Amino acid sequence: MSDTAPDFSMGAAYMNGVYVPIAEAKIPIGDWGFTHSDVTYDVVHVTDGAFFRLEDHLTRFHKSLDGYRLDPGVTRDEMREILGKVVALSGLKRAFVAMLSTRGIPRVYGSRDPMDCDNTFIAYAVPWVDVIKPEVQERGAHLLVASVPRISPKSLDPTLKNYMWRDFTRGMFEAKDKGFDTAILLDQEGYLTEGAGFNVFIVKGTKVITPDRGALEGVTRLSVLDLCPELGLEPVIGPITFDDLMDADEVFTATTAGGVMPCSRVNDRIYGNDRPGPISQTLKDTYWRKHVEGWHMTPVNYADAEN
Ligand code: PLP
Repeated sequence: MSDTAPDFSMGAAYMNGVYVPIAEAKIPIGDWGFTHSDVTYDVVHVTDGAFFRLEDHLTRFHKSLDGYRLDPGVTRDEMREILGKVVALSGLKRAFVAMLSTRGIPRVYGSRDPMDCDNTFIAYAVPWVDVIKPEVQERGAHLLVASVPRISPKSLDPTLKNYMWRDFTRGMFEAKDKGFDTAILLDQEGYLTEGAGFNVFIVKGTKVITPDRGALEGVTRLSVLDLCPELGLEPVIGPITFDDLMDADEVFTATTAGGVMPCSRVNDRIYGNDRPGPISQTLKDTYWRKHVEGWHMTPVNYADAEN
């Protein structure tokens, strides 16, 4: 590489038709994505040089785009190509790859009309970082049921991916203040929803249950539900009360940024022997083994970096 060649080793981004090193990827202050959190996104991971469930992430991204009436003017095929290229440029074999669309800057100065904006498409690949640190996953995460409820789905549809995290962030501060790793939120009727960047599951007998409300339809959640039958487990999408949570045999969380992540405590309840439960651990091991076996994997073409 010559001295003047861009350095993509910390990550590569696509913005406004140009590929730039991640440190140069910046949002203008007038973009409604910044001023009104008027943005949607999705994140897919790459392990061993291959995307996991890329098509599921693209499908969900399009659902979010439609739900928020965002149209970045980029086709699904073009998005797939750009996502491949940011990974190829970075050279990363294990990465998080984000796709975003912001409302953009109004064409008419000062306009408050969302129709006056040209929506953007941004993509980037960065090195992998787990939502819950690997050493915490090993001992089982300690979760706090936050006192702040999840924002009503009538105000914010949780199945459309968004950055409106004020409730999660308040919950995380509360969890940290009280010595927990992270927070999970109930809805205003007291049913379990999700946490900051992950879905939640409880295990009761052979049932593996995840909330039917107030949560993103996670791609990792889908993988867990898919894997249950072959492990002799019954996947259930249903309501979970606080008492169900306390009465569960095991609890785990699930996200692209970490996979299946076992928990060992919720509030003052300690599950099993204060370590990841056997079913959570089996699901975690199976999830990662399936990656190695090529389940839903799409190889990145690293030669694209040259084009
Ligand atoms: N819930 C929320 C609020 C999230 O932000 C995420 C992922 O970022 C998830 C759940 C997990 O979804 P996925 O498994 O598709 O990453």
